[in-house]
Amino acid sequence: MNNETSFELSLRPKRLNEYIGQEKIKQQIAVFIEAAKKKDGILDHVLISGPAGLGKTTLAQVIANELGKNIVFTSGPILEKKGDLAGILSSLEEGDILFIDEIHRLNPSVEEALYPAIEDFKLDIMIGKGNSSRSIRIDLSRFTLIGATTRTGMLTSPLISRFGIILNMEYYDNNSLAQIIKRSADILSIKITDEGAFEIAKRSRGTPRIVNRLLKRVHDYAIVHGKEIIDKEVADKALTFLGINEFGLDETDIKYLSALIEKFGGRPVGLTTISSAISESKNTIEEVIEPYLLREGYIQKTPKGRIPTEKAIKIVNK
Ligand code: ADP
Repeated sequence: MNNETSFELSLRPKRLNEYIGQEKIKQQIAVFIEAAKKKDGILDHVLISGPAGLGKTTLAQVIANELGKNIVFTSGPILEKKGDLAGILSSLEEGDILFIDEIHRLNPSVEEALYPAIEDFKLDIMIGKGNSSRSIRIDLSRFTLIGATTRTGMLTSPLISRFGIILNMEYYDNNSLAQIIKRSADILSIKITDEGAFEIAKRSRGTPRIVNRLLKRVHDYAIVHGKEIIDKEVADKALTFLGINEFGLDETDIKYLSALIEKFGGRPVGLTTISSAISESKNTIEEVIEPYLLREGYIQKTPKGRIPTEKAIKIVNK
């Protein structure tokens, strides 16, 4: 486990009442958890969608904790073969949670094997080789699948239809982010004022993972500059030093917007073209850079490609 991962783990809320923001989702899931406990203890399958770093994995762990059940973590790309899935499914106990991150990246043959498992808790496996091979159906313990995705649009409809509970996560508002910063600062024994926390919140793209990362970097800056407490001024200076402007855009965002405006003159640009122009992977562009720029109205997506808006032009030409 690298440092950054153990740092994230230490800040992860464990119970629903520590999980900040996403009020609607929390209210919904609290009801379903209580109902499951009053019935047979088995929660319906849950799909959580939303951009990276919003707390999907954290929520899955919180749900498992609230139910008092074990959770097994895996992801779409890790489950390469049906056998990988079979191994995990057969190890689950009654009521356990199976968390599949990036479920939109499941191999189609694995996805097909998952259907009977989540519908009837049965698994078809092949035994023997060549002519003597045959398929047998084994019973699994009843379990809950929690799938997470950054790309609901890439999920097949047979898969979506098998989830009883669908939770769509939104970017966090600045007040919730500031609360997350205060909580993290408390755990890490970092001193920060309300204004300092709000300054970091405003520049964190609505994303808890980013607030926690920036808190750590701003703290480094404060230590080096002999500041005991992070106030608005320290936060502002540190964030500017880190290349994050007053609107929360970082150097990659500015590079992306500058390419659209200066290199392509505001004409619609396709994904492959912008990807090679700024040397960022298509995945990063679609999953990290663009969702926030779209939401904040810096770009628009048209059938012919992405175009910058007036708001973007003003910032880049500043
Ligand atoms: P995702 O799975 O959506 O990429 P994670 O669950 O890994 O995101 O969350 C990233 C980090 O953000 C976690 O380590 C956790 O510390 C923090 N975090 C996420 N959601 C919340 C929340 N609602 N309240 C407090 N901290 C959160």
